[in-house]
Amino acid sequence: MTGVAKMIDEISSIGRDLTRGGFSRAGYSTADRELRDWFTAHANQRGLDVERDRNGVLWASWNPAGAAGPAIVTGSHLDSVPGGGGYDGPLGVASALAAIDILREDGRRLQRPIAIAVFPEEEGSRFGVACLGSRLLSGAISPERALALTDDEGDSFADVARRDGLDPASMGPDAAGLARIAAFVELHVEQGRGLIDLGEPVAIASSILGHGRWRVTVDGQGNHAGTTLMADRRDPLVAAARMVVEIRDLARRTDGARATVGRLEPVPGGTNVIASQVRFWIDIRHPDDVVTASLVSQARDIIARAAQGEGCAADVREESLSPTVDFDLGLRDALRRSLPNAPELGTGAGHDAGVLASSAPTAMLFVRNPTGISHSPEELVEDADAEIGAVALATVLGELASAQSIEGTTHAQPMMAK
Ligand SMILES: [Zn+2]
Repeated sequence: MTGVAKMIDEISSIGRDLTRGGFSRAGYSTADRELRDWFTAHANQRGLDVERDRNGVLWASWNPAGAAGPAIVTGSHLDSVPGGGGYDGPLGVASALAAIDILREDGRRLQRPIAIAVFPEEEGSRFGVACLGSRLLSGAISPERALALTDDEGDSFADVARRDGLDPASMGPDAAGLARIAAFVELHVEQGRGLIDLGEPVAIASSILGHGRWRVTVDGQGNHAGTTLMADRRDPLVAAARMVVEIRDLARRTDGARATVGRLEPVPGGTNVIASQVRFWIDIRHPDDVVTASLVSQARDIIARAAQGEGCAADVREESLSPTVDFDLGLRDALRRSLPNAPELGTGAGHDAGVLASSAPTAMLFVRNPTGISHSPEELVEDADAEIGAVALATVLGELASAQSIEGTTHAQPMMAK
């Protein structure tokens, strides 16, 4: 087993989900804390300076002699979706540690420090907003809104963060923290089949599809399944079923669009009870932000019509919206020079690198996933590919940290706080 595979194996018992299969490592859960401890132990072993910032982001910095100024930052996240795979997130963190090992062995003289960042609640599976840590850091979400978010138990993010040792009052945009980032390069398992079809182990990311989440609440009349005549019903689950199918059809009619309902909660959820309310979430993605806006407005019409047809009322609330991100052109050029054989691929998945792209030059590397499946226990990275990925990341970090200046084209200055 190679370095990266061995590290992934070390955490393979943490947050296992025996019901769904795979892992359920929600942000700020016991599993999440154990994973952070695992990372901190590895960082300490390597003599890195570890600190947790006021937004809960873990930083581990390597400051070789002679290195100064803002750091070349890599890293990813350790939380997972419910029943997720073992690579989405941890692969980037383990590869970052391995890349530092490789650079150290190399003995190359670096001009800049290298830092690993581990972002909390990237999947948004606990509080509903993806990339919560990087959004707070960069100012993409206000602390007021973030702190008021609640999980399924009704606990607010403010309470959960406080219990985890953070100070909610100090959370929010961190210009000084962002100024420490000269460039951010996140390595991630590929979440589609691009690299399988190209027969390559590693790709450079070109862009992230614009995406957002909307929460729909449909209110009807809860009642008895036996005594309520079919004609007398106002059943929100029937209305929601129509909405789910019609939203799928809307995305099918729209070139390049993806729309998904993967979570639906009938209240109270009894077998012999007509539901009184149904909540569900829509995830919509498209490369063109104008088309995304039009899809959302058409989805709102579908929802209003379907609710009315069943005598129900519906409410649609936007939980998050991220425009399409094209990664920094200058940084992509630098990555291409370091990895001349790596193809460029876009992705439909959101990442902290996409959120940070508005604050610093960012780029991503993808490592081949032989199943093409992600957010599922079937997600996979072969050991040999994981090692190739770590070497590619080390090559890129080494080049960037040796350069006198980072030529970000998106930003006149290498680091700009929002
Ligand atoms: Zn991820």
